[in-house]
Amino acid sequence: GQCRAVCPTGAITLNSNVHSVWAALSGKNTRVVAQIAPAVRVAVGDKFGIRKGENTLGRLVAALRRIGFDEIYDTNFGADLTVMEESKELTERLESGTKLPLFTSCCPAWVTFCEKKYPEFKENISSCRSPQGMFGALIKEEARMNDGEDNRKTIVVSIMPCTAKKAEIKRPDYFTEGAQDVDYVLTTTEVTRMIQEAGIDLAQVQPETMDMPFGIASGAGAIFGVTGGVTEAVLRRLIDSNKAEDLEAISFTGVRGVDGIKEASVKLKDREVKLAVVNGLQCASKVLDKMKAGEVYYDFVEVMACKRGCIAGGGQPVPIGARTKKARLEGIYKIDHMSQIKLSNQNPIVMTVYDGILKGKEHKLLHHNKAEV
Ligand code: SF4
Repeated sequence: GQCRAVCPTGAITLNSNVHSVWAALSGKNTRVVAQIAPAVRVAVGDKFGIRKGENTLGRLVAALRRIGFDEIYDTNFGADLTVMEESKELTERLESGTKLPLFTSCCPAWVTFCEKKYPEFKENISSCRSPQGMFGALIKEEARMNDGEDNRKTIVVSIMPCTAKKAEIKRPDYFTEGAQDVDYVLTTTEVTRMIQEAGIDLAQVQPETMDMPFGIASGAGAIFGVTGGVTEAVLRRLIDSNKAEDLEAISFTGVRGVDGIKEASVKLKDREVKLAVVNGLQCASKVLDKMKAGEVYYDFVEVMACKRGCIAGGGQPVPIGARTKKARLEGIYKIDHMSQIKLSNQNPIVMTVYDGILKGKEHKLLHHNKAEV
């Protein structure tokens, strides 16, 4: 960036990530790349008096540029990649009839919970990295190709609604070629503090657009921020229609809403596919116990550890009362509603990366590398 900022107040000793990111931003020959998770944009305005649930993405982008980030991209784009890979995985498992149900893997608190408390279901967890993981791996792959020539070092910073994402980036099975992809995770609360420390009032900033090419994402990527969103996004990909009535039919399957356990059944090709959307870990225990007892059967299970999903994550500004949650949830669906592209496979940049940088490297960059554990 042109105008690098350093922590103006020195009041950063509380959190090592904030400190490290300030240091990275003032470093020489560094290219600091930010990615912003779906749920951050409907919460980061809270401490600046912006209306609850309003999409503040453009203002956040402008503030991050002023702070010194060089490139700012959308984790929703990473979510589009997750939809592509997870849909493929579901199709394969349905065809082979193995390792069903497929469990989602984008919520690290859920993944750790399942691994520790229900190890017998470990194989059911999707091999997909999370959206931040996929995106981080992509950026670092590009950096491996270009950083040497450009005489720079790329640092990836994820801005997340979630404290568990800090541990996720340190999992060795998330590394690519033995190296960590995402360098730092800042929570929404931490990034709020950095913006305040830089003396920026988000409410007064003129919104700016994200950088290209990874600033374009579909509405399917956006809804990852709420419970049921991943499932809905995968269904859109598999049903592969962007007709209004089909999209509406998917939204009415029962995947939306804030119940602890939602069940739905969808016809894919000639098969009835049974889905469960689970909201919170207590409900996850219930579902897994019932599965163990043979009382229920599912083909696909989405679990988000936080009730209502990432909009109410542990890294989001508090208080998060019922009205705030509702406003954030509506904010996320509004982003989807306003997106010209509804399906991940219709995002032109997704197609470009599959034909380009990802070609032949889908497994290396987008899935867990079990061998590296
Ligand atoms: Fe993190 Fe909660 Fe979202 Fe899981 S549901 S990824 S713990 S914010």
